[in-house]
Amino acid sequence: PNPAYDPNNVFARILRGEIPCHKVYENDAALAFHDITSAAPVHVLVIPRGAYTDFHDFTRRATPEEIAKFWQAVDHVVQQENLLPAGFRLITNTGPDSGQEVPHFHVHLLGGEKLGPLLS
Ligand code: 5GP
Repeated sequence: PNPAYDPNNVFARILRGEIPCHKVYENDAALAFHDITSAAPVHVLVIPRGAYTDFHDFTRRATPEEIAKFWQAVDHVVQQENLLPAGFRLITNTGPDSGQEVPHFHVHLLGGEKLGPLLS
């Protein structure tokens, strides 16, 4: 187990079913659900079921199978939400400089409209 991981973070609680979420897709290794505050017409969060604090922790510690199933879940939601060919954006905030709020690795999938410039 990762001593840096807080098992009471909000996404850990969603994974345990202690907090409800609007589920979009799930597989063995990942869960996708609507962000509670949507920043775009499609704003889905994809999280691994395992206890990883951020992208770096996930990439270093998850198994190749977990990593593959995680990105397959992201791709599944892209198809399910009909985000191609129009396009979409993936964001993963990592650490204090990024403003990461929830210390469980997650990818934001944003789309459904022409998104504004990332850097402005
Ligand atoms: P971060 O800044 O860590 O990348 O983003 C965390 C995201 O989680 C935010 O966009 C926030 O709206 C979302 N969020 C926080 N609490 C909850 C919750 O209880 N349920 C859902 N569905 N999203 C949440």
